[in-house]
Amino acid sequence: LIQLAIPLNFIGSVYREIRQGLTDIEEMFNILEVDPEVTDKDDAQDLQIRQGAIAFKDVHFSYDPSRPILKGVSFEVPAGKTVAIVGPTGAGKSTISRLLFRFYDVNEGAITIDGQDLREVRQHSLREAIGMVPQDTVLFNDTIAYNIRYGRTSATDEEVNAAAELAQVGDFIRQLPEGFDTQVGERGLKLSGGEKQRVAIARTILKAPPILVLDEATSALDTHTEREIQAALDVVSKNRTTLVIAHRLSTVIGADEIIVLKRGEIAERGTHDNLIAMNGLYAQMWERQREATLAEEHLREVRESD
Ligand code: ADP
Repeated sequence: LIQLAIPLNFIGSVYREIRQGLTDIEEMFNILEVDPEVTDKDDAQDLQIRQGAIAFKDVHFSYDPSRPILKGVSFEVPAGKTVAIVGPTGAGKSTISRLLFRFYDVNEGAITIDGQDLREVRQHSLREAIGMVPQDTVLFNDTIAYNIRYGRTSATDEEVNAAAELAQVGDFIRQLPEGFDTQVGERGLKLSGGEKQRVAIARTILKAPPILVLDEATSALDTHTEREIQAALDVVSKNRTTLVIAHRLSTVIGADEIIVLKRGEIAERGTHDNLIAMNGLYAQMWERQREATLAEEHLREVRESD
């Protein structure tokens, strides 16, 4: 038992160190989620970004060979455009973003960026090119300025300020007693989900990656918070190749194309208006969400009038 307890204890403390040391979601993904079989080829080259166009070509993927997750998925995100993936829970939406970061290799088909197969490029250069705004941002136990500057450590104070402004979080920061020097995170000021997300967006604005992945929140946000976040996201995704993994539908209306994924296959695709007119799965999901939002608003009104 002692022999077993020591290594377990060791793993536990290493895990805690990782958790404490690396609060950045991308880093956490790198360590905890990466498939050890995904390695750079000996002759791998750095990814060369020309326009930043993404293509999924007949992608098949499974985590476990007995259970296919993606079954021949093809789509493109043209340079500078926004494509949103929607669909029921478990459809494979997040898997698509993990494959784009090459946390796993596809079983069949290919994923390319500006024509370069992800399996042929250095992973480091791939991950440098993609910025991610995760649905739940963990902040460092440090100042707000530090948390924003993490996007590009060489950024000046003016650039950090400008990024906060664009991310719609500048007013909030300025009214804090110590402004940009306010300590945040577990041992400092606790920010709300919406505030944290806008700090993450400011960080991404500074990083200015050619490609952006937005993993949209699963949980409902109030209308005001949602609008502020949407305004910040519009700034960061403007003219930048953007893939939105949408667990809710409210923010996908403006996407250049919406892909409706169902059990690992594309069931429908088009703009919001096309899909509503099609009156299929998307139209049903939209109607259900509209009813849920109305019910939430009604509940809130009832509570507020009490
Ligand atoms: P979505 O984002 O659409 O909710 P996911 O891409 O997260 O769906 O998951 C698709 C399917 O793959 C689900 O059935 C899920 O249980 C399974 N899955 C996700 N991650 C893993 C994993 N690391 N190992 C095995 N199965 C997984």
